[in-house]
Amino acid sequence: MIPPVRALGGVATVEFTHENGPRMSLARRNSVQVAIGAVRVGGSAPIVVQSMTNTDTADVAATTRQVEALARAGSELVRVTVNTSEAAAAVAPIRDRLDRAGVNVPLIGDFHFNGHKLLREHPECAAALAKYRINPGNVGRGSKRDPQFAEMIEVACRYDKPVRIGVNWGSLDSDLLTRLMDENSALPEPLTAQQVTRNAVVLSALASARRAEELGMAHNRIILSAKVSGVQDLISIYRDLASRCDYPLHLGLTEAGMGSKGIVASTAAMSVLLQEGIGDTIRVSLTPEPGGDRTQEVFVAQEILQTMGLRAFTPLVIACPGCGRTTSSYFQELAQQIQSHIRTRMPQWRREFTGVEDMTVAVMGCVVNGPGESKHANLGISLPGTGERPVAPVYEDGEKTVTLKGERIAEEFEQIVEQYVARRYARLKSEA
Ligand code: SF4
Repeated sequence: MIPPVRALGGVATVEFTHENGPRMSLARRNSVQVAIGAVRVGGSAPIVVQSMTNTDTADVAATTRQVEALARAGSELVRVTVNTSEAAAAVAPIRDRLDRAGVNVPLIGDFHFNGHKLLREHPECAAALAKYRINPGNVGRGSKRDPQFAEMIEVACRYDKPVRIGVNWGSLDSDLLTRLMDENSALPEPLTAQQVTRNAVVLSALASARRAEELGMAHNRIILSAKVSGVQDLISIYRDLASRCDYPLHLGLTEAGMGSKGIVASTAAMSVLLQEGIGDTIRVSLTPEPGGDRTQEVFVAQEILQTMGLRAFTPLVIACPGCGRTTSSYFQELAQQIQSHIRTRMPQWRREFTGVEDMTVAVMGCVVNGPGESKHANLGISLPGTGERPVAPVYEDGEKTVTLKGERIAEEFEQIVEQYVARRYARLKSEA
């Protein structure tokens, strides 16, 4: 069972379950490996987290700030819209500012109708980007489509850049869809329109990749995606795509939505595919709440991978869900405080200590399951439930080490976490 995820801003949190276990490795679909700058996607590389800005790319300062925030949150690739001449002209200065700030995350350019023209007219943009995203459904209409697609591929080859051929249900190649619909209607037992559309999405991606290779693009410079907004459609399409090629696949549900709806839909769709070994890089496309933080999509992507046991990004705080035994919100506040502490400290810990991202911290609400679950974590604290003695036993690597009491349980436990990290992970580092 996959534990339910709560987005709590950067620290992966799962509800208490006795099924929380160590990271496991699932069989991955075989794919070629594509290099995007220094980041590897596909093959034996870890599943890569990526995100996309929502600033006006022409606003160099705002876009640089957001890319930096996304990268610092853990986005390993960041995509920016390149839709106008001003946006294309801003890409190289953004890259420059990021480099000067020590942020080396590769930038991906998202191109649509005028991508060929922008890449031609802005060579510094073509050079500064680490990958181009091309949507074959809207590179141009009618007779213009093939030459404009070809021009983008030729620029990518000239600058030695990989591409993502990203098909979208909403901008599917209308000529292809019409042809498939016509052919289908002539069949003795026609498929449903939905099935034909799913096929068209897959065929569009594969045909465009084949065309790119015919134009000179190397096989290991192509990533595919086929994003749709329906969970069952996405699963069906990616299974089909995965069985028909060995290009790395970029997973994501398009128009996932806002808040918990978007998180649940993305998690439902991607978890099924990831469990089957399908997917080499993921993006969670969340509509931000008004004034919301764009980095949430990065944290959710990390939480999907971490709670599935596929990667570890940050120590895992395991909090029990609470019940009638915890009538106060004290243990929720403590769980929140510990998560904030870990999130704040993690950048430095990551630099200093080896393996700290694998740490698990259990914050439990009462004596019923508290000691048991605390013993299974690296560090655990079992808070007093209603009617229990006001004491909180602490466990380190399965052994009870101290019992906290009084008003400063949270602060004292934070100190214990600090000491544990310094002792345990410094030792691992020196042994490495
Ligand atoms: S308060 Fe105790 S019994 Fe209730 S969910 Fe938490 S650990 Fe379980």
